[in-house]
Amino acid sequence: MTEIVLDTLGKDFGSFTALRDMDLTIRDGEFMALLGPSGCGKSTTMNMIAGMLEPTRGQIRFDGKRIDGVPMAKRGVGFVFQNYAIFTHMSVRENLAYGPKAQGMSRAEVTRRVSDIAELLQLTPMLDRRAAGLSVNILQRIAIGRSAAVEPAIFLLDEPLSNVDAAFRAVMRSELKGLQRRFSQTMVYVTHDQLEAMTMADRIAVMDHGRLLQVGTPLEVYNNPSDTFVARFIGSPGMNLIPARVDGDTAHMDGIGALTLTAAPGTAQVLAGFRPEVVHPDDDGPLAMGVEIVEHIGARTIVHLRAGETEVKAVLDAEHTAPREGQAFRFRVDAADIRLFDPATGAAMK
Ligand code: ATP
Repeated sequence: MTEIVLDTLGKDFGSFTALRDMDLTIRDGEFMALLGPSGCGKSTTMNMIAGMLEPTRGQIRFDGKRIDGVPMAKRGVGFVFQNYAIFTHMSVRENLAYGPKAQGMSRAEVTRRVSDIAELLQLTPMLDRRAAGLSVNILQRIAIGRSAAVEPAIFLLDEPLSNVDAAFRAVMRSELKGLQRRFSQTMVYVTHDQLEAMTMADRIAVMDHGRLLQVGTPLEVYNNPSDTFVARFIGSPGMNLIPARVDGDTAHMDGIGALTLTAAPGTAQVLAGFRPEVVHPDDDGPLAMGVEIVEHIGARTIVHLRAGETEVKAVLDAEHTAPREGQAFRFRVDAADIRLFDPATGAAMK
């Protein structure tokens, strides 16, 4: 197990700054997701941790020791990429055994690791198959297994599930979590998929445009996003953000109605944020909008509401009768579920 510290880490490519002054501590044995849209600097950060890229500024420390200049092979990291890297002419067993053998482990230890990993990743029935004929899903599972078999102190995964199909992705999410529980490695997982980050990570580092915006547990970033970018990016659909005028403990939203707040932040123009899940249908509720689209997705219904230019998404459980398109919809949002943001900076207001 290893603690990773990124200390004012930065990376430029020519005059372009891909990463700015990133401070982040990834604890011993923690599953940390680096989450953000394409181009935000996730892979650049990961490649510097792995040793494939040198930082322009700042330091990386493993257990307090600077690792700048230490070659990748000496860092004790396992790395899995989006595109599996496996030996297709070898059997699954040979692929899994490759790393431990290269490390000079005894035959008994190699055998133990191969059967351990194969069991965790459901590869046991196909250990003697040649990799060449196997599906993309299985090849990526082998790639993960091959890196895990080395039992690296740090396990880095860069979008490992983006090429596997949706059903398999769900299975792999729980297998990866199981892998980490079994080996208690420090895991850093790069993804643009908030669901992957939310379901697997102990903590999530949300990034955008080369900046680290927020670090917290999935529930912390979900419940208390540091700014409007995080509020929109986390959750599916993301948080509703409605222009409102606050006066005392009331937020007035044009054409919709007024929300009561827990605090009275004075008088200000704000963005009032609330999650689609906290919209409660209520015939006596203070808020009213028109129903534009109703999407039934199994146990939940997503209702798109509109009043003039303002849009709100509501997620209703199956227990509620779904409203019909074209109808008026009255609702309430409890004061504890409302977050306020500064419309100029996007930052959360205290
Ligand atoms: P993606 O999921 O698309 O890989 P990302 O968040 O991982 O996104 P990075 O790959 O870290 O993003 O890239 C961050 C920015 O740095 C991007 O704008 C990218 O074009 C740029 N960049 C990355 N590598 C290089 C390079 N070798 N030379 C120049 N620019 C680069």
